[in-house]
Amino acid sequence: MPKKRYLFTPGPTPVPPEVLEVLARPAIHHRGPDFKQAYERVLARLKEVFRTEHDVLLFTSSGTGAFESAVANLTEPGERALVVSHGNFGERWAEMVGRYGAELDHLRYAWGESPDPADVRERAAGAAVVYLVHSETSTGVVSDLQPLAAAAKEQGALVVVDAVSSLAAVRCETDAWGLDVVVSGSQKALMTPPGLGLVSVSPAALAKAARGGAARFYFDWERTRAAQEKVDAAFTPAVPLVLGLDVALGLILDEGLEAAFERHLRLGRATRAGIKAMGLELASPDEDRSAVVTTVWAPDGLDVAAFLLDLRDRLGVQLIGGQGEWRSKVFRIGHIGYFEIFDITTALGAVETGMVEAGVEIERGVAVTAALEAYEGARTRT
Ligand code: PLP
Repeated sequence: MPKKRYLFTPGPTPVPPEVLEVLARPAIHHRGPDFKQAYERVLARLKEVFRTEHDVLLFTSSGTGAFESAVANLTEPGERALVVSHGNFGERWAEMVGRYGAELDHLRYAWGESPDPADVRERAAGAAVVYLVHSETSTGVVSDLQPLAAAAKEQGALVVVDAVSSLAAVRCETDAWGLDVVVSGSQKALMTPPGLGLVSVSPAALAKAARGGAARFYFDWERTRAAQEKVDAAFTPAVPLVLGLDVALGLILDEGLEAAFERHLRLGRATRAGIKAMGLELASPDEDRSAVVTTVWAPDGLDVAAFLLDLRDRLGVQLIGGQGEWRSKVFRIGHIGYFEIFDITTALGAVETGMVEAGVEIERGVAVTAALEAYEGARTRT
């Protein structure tokens, strides 16, 4: 019997069989009618998932490439840009914006904190662009995006949002909340393998890009926008991934975005309930918005790397450790995309087994029940 593998990380995430099936089909050409039909459908479906009437540009890159497209198209050397960070990804964006020659203002919170709209309002004054992270995957914090974006807009700035790990898992209302640019990637809640970077662009963002920005070629928004308008990719796209994304977006829209948000909220509740029942301590907030990844403090004396290796090698269960300053201090359980409650109970069972193997004293036999009850909600038993 080959070992069964379970992928419980916040990206890449498990890919549904319906998507895998199209990835295995014989190659087709990207200028042919069969690809174009799928491409057109993907571009339309992306607008629905991003909740925007405007263009969503599709690049063959990871999420970082899509984010870099925003920085390249919107940065004027010497112009002020505010980057709000509260973990690894925000800090990465601050470095990127600085390298592109903006006058960087870095509003840096401690890892694990949630940004405050009042701080953003104050610091955004005079900034041309404000960069926000919706779901900070390194900590598990999902920020309260709407008031943060509103605070930046009040000061007249364009708002760029990293929604790489939140899009289609946690509500992100691109147009209704006035988000000029929203960035995502295929390998998270969009249930597709890594390799596609996505970026929605408002007319104001496109207009600023048209007036200038930094040197760019592959990531020039106008080049890709004009090509997409003719349903003709600017460059050779990752054809199988686009076909896979088409199917994945169809699955998401069939479930319905509202239902997907609700499912993720309940998966988050279930994971936290199970972790707490075992007697472990949450590093991510114990709140409904934290529906992307649950981050757990490593108990005293636990060697996180050895624990994760044991889970992977002995049980076939892949969780992930911390990043940056939280490396060795935490482990993370992802629950975005193709996840249901029995993925969570499996992950919790693996954590329990691994903790026992590592000699950590935990409460045994309670996590799965706690998770199932939290998932179902407060039910009255008769
Ligand atoms: N931003 C966030 C919040 C992420 O979780 C990730 C990926 O883990 C990225 C950006 C970077 O995306 P990629 O690894 O696809 O370049």
